[in-house]
Amino acid sequence: MDSFYIEVSKIEGEKTRKELTGLGIINKGVKIKQAGEMLLIPIISPVKGFGDIGKADFEIIEKEETPEQILGFSPAIEKIGDIAIIDRHEPDAPKIAEALIRQKKIKTVLVAQTPVGGEYRIRELSVLAGETRTETLYKENGCRYRIDLSKVYFTPRLATERARIADQIKYGDLVVDMFAGAGPFSILIAKKYPQAHVIAIDKNPDAIKYLRENARLNKVINLEIREGDARDICMDITGADHVIMNLPHSGLDFMEAALKVVRKGGFIHFYAISHEDELFNGLLLKINQIAKQLHLVITPVDKKIVRPYAPYQYNICIDFQVS
Ligand code: SAM
Repeated sequence: MDSFYIEVSKIEGEKTRKELTGLGIINKGVKIKQAGEMLLIPIISPVKGFGDIGKADFEIIEKEETPEQILGFSPAIEKIGDIAIIDRHEPDAPKIAEALIRQKKIKTVLVAQTPVGGEYRIRELSVLAGETRTETLYKENGCRYRIDLSKVYFTPRLATERARIADQIKYGDLVVDMFAGAGPFSILIAKKYPQAHVIAIDKNPDAIKYLRENARLNKVINLEIREGDARDICMDITGADHVIMNLPHSGLDFMEAALKVVRKGGFIHFYAISHEDELFNGLLLKINQIAKQLHLVITPVDKKIVRPYAPYQYNICIDFQVS
């Protein structure tokens, strides 16, 4: 395709490209070309003051069609690394899988055969298209996670929430992540605060395996990984500055253990699933009752909806201080 260009030396190339981008005159439909020691930067109209101007034939940049463009609608899917997951109730699953697998970034399309469930909060997955695997590499908040999605719980929908909690940690804090999974809270915090000490607990042996691998991948050494029931493991821990309780369906059963682990003045970040008519108050009442029996007082510092969970139901978080 013919296009005007500006000829600059390779050394000046990146600086000029940025300036031309700022002016909005780069021809984004074609590729920059090399001519010996010079670069030909395609532009939509001639402009003076950057270098010699000319006209030449440029290679067109082939744009990938999005699944939305192929299908004509926006499919309900979950993307984790190079894997896409489609719900088992999706009638257009084969058509969606075909559109997804045409994307460079998607290598496998899975169907969730069951909802997330059981103690380990996992689901049955089957391969619908692409490579036969359920393991992927996922990047979030500057960390990398290897996860087998059929063996360990994971959702990318909590990425912002994890960053919000990580922002509250201070130099030298002791953080206990009672239900750590593959480590998206623990590893982010340990990596962001090398002076903090993070204890990551999970009962699922596969979660522990991936936690260890992810600690290595992210080069964190201030992370202590403990396998077992959080209630038992918490019996050996005291003085935590922050306790993360991300087991939304049954977290209340572990509240007593968490209250014993946190120091006076420390914080608990408690996740739950709540009905829209009674998002926080019922839960706060129950937490208060448990705290009272331990002669502790709780003061909510933040209450928030994290994401919609099901019709009329929300995944919520209550951050509270214990004294
Ligand atoms: N925090 C992780 C995340 O954001 O991806 C995982 C959260 S997932 C909802 C809950 C995790 O708690 C699962 O990995 C499950 O194996 C673990 N779990 C369930 N019951 C447990 C228990 N009694 N003690 C320790 N871990 C438990």
